[in-house]
Amino acid sequence: MFLTITTTGTAERPATDLGYLLHKHPDKAQAFSTSYGTAHVLYPEAQPERCTAALLLEVDAVALVRRGKGRGGAPDAALAQYVNDRPYAASSLLAVALSSVFSSAMRGVCHARPELPEQPRPLRIEVPALPARGGAELVRRLFEPLGWAVTAEPIALDSEFPEWGDSRYVRLTLEADTLTLAEALRHLYVLLPVLDDAKHYWVAPDEVDKLLRVGEGWLPGHPEQKLITSRYLSRRWSLTRQALERLELVRLAEADDSEVEDIDNAVEAETEDEEKPTPLAVQRREAILTALRASGAARVLDLGCGQGQLVQALLKDVRFTEIVGLDVSVRALTIAARRLKLDRMGERQASRVRLLQGSLAYTDSRLKGYDAAVLSEVIEHLDLPRLPALEYAVFGAARPRTVLVTTPNVEYNVRWESLPAGHVRHGDHRFEWTREEFRTWADAVAGRHGYGVEFVPVGPDDPEVGPPTQMAVFTMTDKTEKTEKEAKAA
Ligand code: SAH
Repeated sequence: MFLTITTTGTAERPATDLGYLLHKHPDKAQAFSTSYGTAHVLYPEAQPERCTAALLLEVDAVALVRRGKGRGGAPDAALAQYVNDRPYAASSLLAVALSSVFSSAMRGVCHARPELPEQPRPLRIEVPALPARGGAELVRRLFEPLGWAVTAEPIALDSEFPEWGDSRYVRLTLEADTLTLAEALRHLYVLLPVLDDAKHYWVAPDEVDKLLRVGEGWLPGHPEQKLITSRYLSRRWSLTRQALERLELVRLAEADDSEVEDIDNAVEAETEDEEKPTPLAVQRREAILTALRASGAARVLDLGCGQGQLVQALLKDVRFTEIVGLDVSVRALTIAARRLKLDRMGERQASRVRLLQGSLAYTDSRLKGYDAAVLSEVIEHLDLPRLPALEYAVFGAARPRTVLVTTPNVEYNVRWESLPAGHVRHGDHRFEWTREEFRTWADAVAGRHGYGVEFVPVGPDDPEVGPPTQMAVFTMTDKTEKTEKEAKAA
């Protein structure tokens, strides 16, 4: 199995920078042992004008068979196939080798030259024999939307007998000037096994996380997103559905960031000159901080943290020793990381804060064991039928002692001058509740999970329609806490 990566360069930006990017010196041939055989990295050509790195994977067919048997997962018929063509064709094994030999390059990390990974460069990738179920046509549908110029030539079954037709292999060449090496490697890591469509290892549930991580920035919204996801996950439907739902959420959250005006903020901007009222978003943050301090919490989750404003405010108060922001939107998290200057933060500050990508529609073991969780303006972004899933993930599984939930009070909407009657405040709000509706939900949630709940108005509490934002403060009852402690001790 064989793959080459070529780049061209100039005196100022020599092609041999590829060596830095890949963390592999162009003057040396290197070998790495992987679980399926030995991976060799060598540079057939290394000049400032043109540099080529080759990855050659020598598959140990015997190790493959042993591995398969040892795991007890793969049926023998499938193994026979691996032993037949695996050593010769690029496939998921090559993808695994790519990710282990070039892991920093794939993550876009280069300590020696930190500016390099972000710069797109001319890239040409060649895979002489790529198994491609779906043929050259599918190869193009997968790579072209990502910015690659694709040449995929079918390879004849036997060149002496053209009448036998084509094999399922293509000779693939990809060329682009606008992509970074890290992007290129991530595309290959996902799309090689997708084309091969015969994944060699058992698909574990964390494959969904891996796919979303590696697919960040290019998979959401890809026209073949569904085919890629389903094949990558070896057609395990429950995982595929989960991945597609999460991709859809990422897409929505990103559309929401860029296309939709946040009415709260627009209204604040309009009125700012007149009397400079404190923006509602700031009042909300203050109310949350006050409630958190009163609860005595030190380790806090900000669920649906968005662009990290609350995380930033929490960091300023040393009583909060551990702060975790979670959001489904990678874009929002990227902005949050920039806002917090995570990359330039001192070690002590950095040890207090973490940003996680994840969806509140699924239970997540990373969220267990915190003192408090905040859901600020988040629940209304979920479709009502998904709300019980969020309820379970937070109150059933994560179970912090304190939970703060804020959401718009729809009754107040008549007071927003620029909001046409009957409209919600934000294009992505799936619902907005009256005070009564919010109370009914919150009381039921508290009752189901052993919490008490109190309600706090945020913003001017209008005598007729109430405040613009409503906040519920859930506290686990002493009795529940005691029972849980005893259960844990036992
Ligand atoms: N808490 C912030 C942001 C609110 S906007 C604030 O108060 O300003 C709502 C946020 O919820 C968005 O960042 C969106 O990406 C996130 N979100 C929506 N659905 C989510 C889900 N299922 N899981 C996690 N985050 C979600």
